[in-house]
Amino acid sequence: MARVTLEHITKRYEDVTAVDDMNVEIRDGEFVCLVGPSGCGKSTTMEIVAGLTTPTEGTVFIGDADVTKLPPKDRGVAMVFQNIALFPHMNVWENISFGLRLRKFDTDEIDRRVEHAADIVQLEGMLERMPDEMSGGQRQRVAIARAIVRNPDVFLMDEPLANLDAKLRVHMRTELQRLHKELDTTIIYVTHDQAEAMTMSDRIAVINAGRLQQIDPPLICYNEPANLFVAGFIGSPSMNFVEGDLTRDGLETPNFSVEFDPSQVPNATVGDRLTLGIRPEDVFLEHRAGNLETTTDPIDAVTDVLEPMGDEIFVYLLLDESAERSMEDALATPNQLLMSVSPDTEIHEDERTNVVLDRSKVHLFDTDTGEALVHGIDDLPGPTAGADTGAGTAGTETRATGSGTDTER
Ligand code: ADP
Repeated sequence: MARVTLEHITKRYEDVTAVDDMNVEIRDGEFVCLVGPSGCGKSTTMEIVAGLTTPTEGTVFIGDADVTKLPPKDRGVAMVFQNIALFPHMNVWENISFGLRLRKFDTDEIDRRVEHAADIVQLEGMLERMPDEMSGGQRQRVAIARAIVRNPDVFLMDEPLANLDAKLRVHMRTELQRLHKELDTTIIYVTHDQAEAMTMSDRIAVINAGRLQQIDPPLICYNEPANLFVAGFIGSPSMNFVEGDLTRDGLETPNFSVEFDPSQVPNATVGDRLTLGIRPEDVFLEHRAGNLETTTDPIDAVTDVLEPMGDEIFVYLLLDESAERSMEDALATPNQLLMSVSPDTEIHEDERTNVVLDRSKVHLFDTDTGEALVHGIDDLPGPTAGADTGAGTAGTETRATGSGTDTER
């Protein structure tokens, strides 16, 4: 087991900065997924930890040792890749033991390690099989066993399940979690699949354009995304985003307003452009929102397309029927909102309806910087809180509201 620390890691190729000033500390025994879109620098980061790529700047520590200049074989790491390169002419035992035999390990020790690894990945009884007699999942388990016999301090896995079919991938996720529990080893796992990252990791490191966006437990990334990128990347279907202007009464978007005291929003000033984020499961039909503590005012909508998923129904809502529809990026236009409702909901296409947002689940982001400002506006007072002086002028309201808070504005 070992801690892995990246300090100011940057990797530049001629015209690309693949990794940009990455600072991460992965704890001893932790399972961390590096997740992000294709080309964001996940594999390069992994290769830098493995020693297959030298960083342009920065330092890599494994435990307390600076390994930046050490060759891969001296780092105590074992890698499992997407493309499983098993030797086709060797059986499972020979494939798993290959590295140990090359390093002239004692025969008894080789047998002991291979048996132990085969037991962990449940390949007992298959040691005589040839790779072409095995399924994709079994071959991947051989590759993992080959890594296990090396007793690494750190496992590095680069999209190891990418080539498996969907059902097997879900099964292997559970197996990898079991493996982690059993081996109690640090695992760094690269994937572009946020669902894979959500289900397996202790923490997720979300990367975009070579930069670390957030590293937190999956549910923190989901419930308190650090910025618009993380909010949009984690969760499927994606969070709805609606841009608006911060006014003295809250947020005004083209089709609806949400009331709150703007002075309670950190790092924002009336007149700023903010983006409201709300997940599909936090949008409710007004008549079914009775259990929620605080909701927004009802928003007029027309149901457009329904997608019954079995355990829920996705409902695409149009907030402004006359506006143009964008099928390309449906969730990024202010006229559309995706709602998820339970499958027993009486709902039809092209129906006029009212929806509300759960105020405790409304996120606000700075549109320009993307930075998250607030997660949940349920405890932000309404715009007129404390302003009930009867005068009702803008000046009175601003002063009265401001006096009840400890913010600067
Ligand atoms: P990911 O694993 O997230 O898909 P990579 O780490 O493979 O991303 O790549 C990050 C960026 O660095 C990409 O733009 C990629 O084209 C570039 N890159 C990776 N390796 C090289 C290389 N050897 N030479 C030049 N550019 C590279």
